[in-house]
Amino acid sequence: MSTRGAFGYWRDGIRWEGVYIRSDAYPGYALPELAYAMVFREEEALPERMVEARAEAWQFLEEGGVCPFCGREGVGMPVDIRGDIYALRYRFAREPILADAYREEIARLERAAEEGDQGAAGILEDLRHTGWPDPGERYHGHWDPRVGHLNADPLFLEWAYLVTRGYLSVLRGCVASRPGGRPATERIIALRLPGGEPLAVVDHGHCVAAFTEVARLGPVALAQLAWIARMKRRAEGKGQEEAREAVDRLADTLTYCAAFVAGLVAAAWASGKRRVVREPETGGKELPDVVRLETLNRYGLELAAFREDLPGLPAPPRDAVRLAERRLGSG
Ligand SMILES: [Zn+2]
Repeated sequence: MSTRGAFGYWRDGIRWEGVYIRSDAYPGYALPELAYAMVFREEEALPERMVEARAEAWQFLEEGGVCPFCGREGVGMPVDIRGDIYALRYRFAREPILADAYREEIARLERAAEEGDQGAAGILEDLRHTGWPDPGERYHGHWDPRVGHLNADPLFLEWAYLVTRGYLSVLRGCVASRPGGRPATERIIALRLPGGEPLAVVDHGHCVAAFTEVARLGPVALAQLAWIARMKRRAEGKGQEEAREAVDRLADTLTYCAAFVAGLVAAAWASGKRRVVREPETGGKELPDVVRLETLNRYGLELAAFREDLPGLPAPPRDAVRLAERRLGSG
């Protein structure tokens, strides 16, 4: 599924940074995968490493930040890839079951090269000499996958998973139409919930989009997800499906609630009543705030689920919990 999201760190206040998740960012898939990587992968699969490598989350976990088409590191995620390059390196070469398809693709390129296709000849030569189908980056480019509070648009990124003070926070991007038909002015605004976590709101003019924190998973919950994903890897079949179902059940409820909060955000905007607060993290610059924060806060705090563990999943071993605590910075 083409559900996009982000994996990162929630630094303080409204500031967060991380990397893009290009697909399958919905909790049922992303949470067990990210939990497994954080807890059990040899290299620490933490967002900081991904930001350093300028690698999109799944690319980092699959390729360690090395571009599978040109072999370069730290250049960003590969984009605009010619079909035969993609097929050679990504689809066919890595799946033994597709070995025949790989040979057919090579044969097709050889025929094309014989007929004078310089591109096909070049790809074959590159493969022979370097092992990469496009080391010169003639048939693909790169894109910086780093996202954060300054450029993450909840219209586009639906989920964000952020490491914060001993938890993994789950944020849901949600959108509400904004009555009034004001001219479109896109801006990102910090909306502080008293006593709760702040929200980043994007005002698109015709609609308002926001990330709301819908769940926090503690070390035990993270270890549960990691553990069940590991069992799945060891023995195919039952395992991760259970995790996906449990997390999706949680996410369904929370997504509904997040949409409700987005409605309240839009209602507050439409009311036109605002006040200005000073945010220490902006160096004293004034940021607009919504006047009905008390309402938002009441619902927001009631809706956010702070989970030490996930009911319905087996208890993880103690050492997995200790690893999870360490990765979340609470151990
Ligand atoms: Zn590349």
